[in-house]
Amino acid sequence: MSDGEASLRARVIAISQALDAAGLVPNKSGNVSCRSARGFLITPSGIPYRDLTPGHLAELAVDGEPATAGPRPSSEWRMHAAIYARRPDAAAIVHTHSPRATALACAGRGIPPFHYMIALAGGDIRCMPYATFGTAELAEAAVRGLDGRRATLLANHGVIAIGDSLRAAHAVAFEVENLAAQYLTLLAAGLEPALLDDAELRRVIAKFADYGRLARC
Ligand SMILES: [Zn+2]
Repeated sequence: MSDGEASLRARVIAISQALDAAGLVPNKSGNVSCRSARGFLITPSGIPYRDLTPGHLAELAVDGEPATAGPRPSSEWRMHAAIYARRPDAAAIVHTHSPRATALACAGRGIPPFHYMIALAGGDIRCMPYATFGTAELAEAAVRGLDGRRATLLANHGVIAIGDSLRAAHAVAFEVENLAAQYLTLLAAGLEPALLDDAELRRVIAKFADYGRLARC
């Protein structure tokens, strides 16, 4: 294994363990991947995040074929493969079952643009219709939900976030959970959020790009 690949594997594990420590992937849910020399590296099925070692990551080609013999990939590998095939801007993908965003997803409710930080996701966050985990149907729903966005909710399931680096995808996934908490607080208080308009969202997205926030966050 090259130094570059070893470092990439270590970073996938570090992000996975950070998500676990923050409670965003309860009970071994969720998965993390990033592009690699032969396709993409993805966390395996069924191994607790704290026990992950570099050799546990699976490497798949973008068409889903195993790039190297090795561990069984996450059951959601189709979703990752479909996103890498259709989104050249995605260098990494974080999928969580983070509690508050998943609560909204279980009500089939997306997140409206009530706070400027939603610009990290590229705009309002859709909630896509339910499909069984691990299926091509779910993969297709995720790709559609991400159209023009860096995050989407998946009904009765969770969150998927992309970025041009592992850190960026992690930051988007974390912000989706933060926004979901704020939105649920508004709803619980019976308050109607004041929404930002498209022009303001475009201004914030441009400012984030200017700061390099989307690339380095
Ligand atoms: Zn899942």
